[in-house]
Amino acid sequence: MSVRGSKVWMDGKLVDWEDAKVHVLTHALHYGTAVFEGIRVYKTPRGSAVFRLKDHLKRLYDSAKIYMMNIPYSMSELEEAVKLVVATNGFSECYVRPIVFRGYGSMGVNPLNSPVNVSIAAWEWGPYLGRNAERGVRCMVSTWRRISSQSLPPQAKSSANYANAALAKMEALTNGFDEAIMLNTEGYVTEGSGENIFRVKSGVLTTPPASAGVLRGITRDTVIKLAQEMGLSVERVNISREELYTADELFLTGTAAEVVPIREVDGRQIGTGEYPITLKIRERYLKLVHGELDGHEDWFTFVN
Ligand code: PMP
Repeated sequence: MSVRGSKVWMDGKLVDWEDAKVHVLTHALHYGTAVFEGIRVYKTPRGSAVFRLKDHLKRLYDSAKIYMMNIPYSMSELEEAVKLVVATNGFSECYVRPIVFRGYGSMGVNPLNSPVNVSIAAWEWGPYLGRNAERGVRCMVSTWRRISSQSLPPQAKSSANYANAALAKMEALTNGFDEAIMLNTEGYVTEGSGENIFRVKSGVLTTPPASAGVLRGITRDTVIKLAQEMGLSVERVNISREELYTADELFLTGTAAEVVPIREVDGRQIGTGEYPITLKIRERYLKLVHGELDGHEDWFTFVN
C-alpha cells in the first residue's frame, strides 16, 4: 500500500500534490533526460532519519554531471529540501524521490536549451517486492541485456536506463516471475531491474563489480560493510549465469526492496531453499536502518 504526501517540493517551493505537474512538452518526457534517486526514511529511537542521504545526493550530482545538467541548488540545499518534504508531509517512514530533469524549453534531442528542474516527492511505500518477499522471490534471467557503457552509462541513475529495466521487468512479470535478472552484453550477471544482486557460496559473498555495468547501489555498499563486520568475506567478481543456479543463496539489495532472498531462478531452486546468511544480513540491515546498531552514525540525517 502506498500513501501519498500532501506537498511536493518543486524548484524551491512546496506545492500541493495535485499541482505538482509538468508540461506535456517537458524534454525529459520525450527524450529520457532525467536523473533521479530513491531514498528511504526510517523511524529510529532518536526520531525519523533519512538513510545515507548524502550518499544518495552525491550519486544524484554524479548522474547529473554525466548528463551535463547543472543542478541549480547546492547539495546542502537539497538535503534541507528532502528533510522539509518529509517533515511537511508528517511521515515517520517513507520513500523519497528526488528527480532532476530537463524541463519545458525547446523540443528536439538537444537538451542544452531546456531548463534543469528539480522536484522531490515522498510517499509511504512498503517493501518494493511485496510483504512476503522475505520468503524469497522467483526470478528469470531476462532475454533483454542490461545497457552497456558503450551506449548508456549504467552508473548514472538516469530515467533512460529504466526503459531497459522496464522491458525486463514486464517480461518477468508476464512470464509469472517476480523479478528479472539481467546479463550484460558479455553474458555476465549484472543486477535486477531495480536491485543489485549477491551470491553466497561456501560462506563467501560475491557481487558483480561496477565494471560489469551495475549501478553502484548504496544498499549494496551497506551490505558489503555489514557482511564484513559480520566476519564474512565479500568479493566483487563477475558471476556467470550458471553460477546463479549453483549458488547456496542469492539475494537482491536496493533501497526500495531492502534485502530480499531469491528462491528460484529459471525454474531451479536456489540452494536448499533456506537462506541463513541472507536472513542474517537482512535482519542486521533492518536493525541498522532503524538505528538499532551501534556505529555508522554518519549514515543518518535526522528529519527534525
Ligand atoms: N540497480 C538498479 C538498476 C536500481 O534501480 C537500484 C535502485 N536504485 C539499485 C540497483 C539499488 O541501488 P540502491 O541500493 O542505491 O537503492
